[in-house]
Amino acid sequence: MNAIALVKHVPDTAQLSSALDGLKLMAEGPRIINPWDEYAVEECLKLREAHGGQVTVLSLGPAQATEALKQGLAMGADQAVLVSDPAFEGGDTLGTARALAAAITKLGTWDIVIAGRSALDGDTAQTAIQVAALLGVPQLTYVAHIREINFEAQTISVERMLEGGREVLTSRLPCVVSVVKEINEPRYPSFMGIRKAAKASIPAWTAADLNLDPATVGAAASGVSWAEVSLPPAREGACQIITGDTPEAMAAALVDKLMAEKII
Ligand SMILES: Cc1cc2nc3c(=O)[nH]c(=O)nc-3n(C[C@H](O)[C@H](O)[C@H](O)COP(=O)(O)OP(=O)(O)OC[C@H]3O[C@@H](n4cnc5c(N)ncnc54)[C@H](O)[C@@H]3O)c2cc1C
Repeated sequence: MNAIALVKHVPDTAQLSSALDGLKLMAEGPRIINPWDEYAVEECLKLREAHGGQVTVLSLGPAQATEALKQGLAMGADQAVLVSDPAFEGGDTLGTARALAAAITKLGTWDIVIAGRSALDGDTAQTAIQVAALLGVPQLTYVAHIREINFEAQTISVERMLEGGREVLTSRLPCVVSVVKEINEPRYPSFMGIRKAAKASIPAWTAADLNLDPATVGAAASGVSWAEVSLPPAREGACQIITGDTPEAMAAALVDKLMAEKII
């Protein structure tokens, strides 16, 4: 079993300040592994525990993105690969997906690629879908549970989480899956894992290593232009204390207010 988890290094939105604005919002500040991608790594590790095999974590980004890969290694992944080249800068999701798909092909035989549902910063939820399309394999999105997976028969059955319910899909392997947080509880990196990750040597594959024409990736190939990024307006709100002689009276006053505001 060969599973590949796609992990992105993203800005830590909990630490973004309103001083960071415009395009800088996406580029500056402390960075973390995309939280959704921890679920992807965890699911790959669970598959390895159940079926044996190998888990690879893969990221496209600048040298600092090795931090996200180290988090994956510390959780228990066997190997990590960074895809990094100035040629990838300014790329839209399709350029990113092209480079990731080429790296997946270079990794050799694989059974399943697992991605997060979306990235905290770009949030397009397009990358995994485009990777699947470029690799010519099925894509299963918003997966909340892998019901059954058979690496001999090369089949998978999953539950997709939709707004109004769940959908069960079966597919052949290899395939690309994107997962939602309901799928598992990501483990904390172990002490041994952190030490192993700190010592790991992570290869960085360039566009040339992937036989990619620089004109097909990065800014050169972006079909989408990114004109502006801004923070949402600050939320306005006021705190109101509901008083009353008894808890019942206070509850009734609260219900009246909620009904008047058409909240209930
Ligand atoms: C015109 C334009 C210019 C841009 N310039 C830049 C730039 O200079 N620098 C920059 O960082 N971004 C840039 N971006 C954003 C860049 O295209 C996205 O970061 C990237 O394509 C991923 O899209 P997303 O963030 O929406 O991820 P989503 O599609 O929401 O991510 C879904 C899942 O795909 C996987 N995934 C996504 N991205 C990666 C990755 N890089 N490595 C591994 N797995 C991944 C993860 O598992 C993630 O959970 C630009 C975008 C546009 C449109």
